[in-house]
Amino acid sequence: MSRIVCGVDLGGTQTKIGIVDEQGEIILKRIIETRVGDRSETIVSRIAETISSVIKEVNVDRDTVLGVGIGSPGSIDRENGVVLFSPNFPNWRNMELKRRIEEKTGLKTFLENDANAFILGEWAFGEHAGCDHMIGITLGTGIGGGVIAAGKLLIGADGFGGELGHIIVEPDGPTCGCGSHGCVESIASAPSIGRLAKEMRKRFPNSKMFESGPQPSTKQVFQAATQGDEAARLVLERVYRALSLAIGNYIHIFNPRYVVLGGGVSRAGEPLLNGIRKCVERFTMSSFKGTYEIILSQLFEDAGIKGAASIVFYKFS
Ligand SMILES: [Zn+2]
Repeated sequence: MSRIVCGVDLGGTQTKIGIVDEQGEIILKRIIETRVGDRSETIVSRIAETISSVIKEVNVDRDTVLGVGIGSPGSIDRENGVVLFSPNFPNWRNMELKRRIEEKTGLKTFLENDANAFILGEWAFGEHAGCDHMIGITLGTGIGGGVIAAGKLLIGADGFGGELGHIIVEPDGPTCGCGSHGCVESIASAPSIGRLAKEMRKRFPNSKMFESGPQPSTKQVFQAATQGDEAARLVLERVYRALSLAIGNYIHIFNPRYVVLGGGVSRAGEPLLNGIRKCVERFTMSSFKGTYEIILSQLFEDAGIKGAASIVFYKFS
């Protein structure tokens, strides 16, 4: 039997845990409530118990299990496997996740930022697996980024590299969660899109975006735009411009073959893709024309587990 890995996609609401083989197939998957309000010891124990139980259930020789890969939002110390800070876990500070999971499961454990895990997953199992020049952007509660450059995950001198969500696209723009202003995250993350939509209410009180309340979801904004709603169109125009400026910058810096979009906002699909594609061309030098493709991840809801698993395969490659 080929080697297998346990991938853990640590989320603020749910934690997805799955056994993944070297081909990227999920053999067994379990989803548990994360319950961030619980004591950290309780959360870690629950995750460790689930890991042990899924491994037991697949009933394989222990030697075939390479280890556990955990994709975590926030800042991490990958060397020591510590979650330094995570927006989803306000009570976690310098949380020694690797050590604790290893103690409880007896399995070698590796920790990676979730956006880096996303692009590692694309590189290992995605539509263009094996391509050594790729950028991943996760559009969700925040905007995460990961860069595969010349066949390596880019991490920088201190491991913090690839923070693509905090490239500034509107210098006088909205305040960002990071403390800066006008980062692409402050305009194109799911909560930011909702906020921009809400700000339209005074000018466009009858917009379709507000049919079910003053605080539309990202989905409602996209839906209204496809129905020709002017306010929604204006919101998305700003979102596309922000994303396109950011992606144009990444293209100039990294010369990627693929820019892969994932995360909840990317479920908007074709309209989002078309909006960005058209705009990016305006912001890139003509010599880059035809060198890159902006695509949607095809791993969908399993992207997190597969990405987390690929952390371990990457370590052993
Ligand atoms: Zn920022």
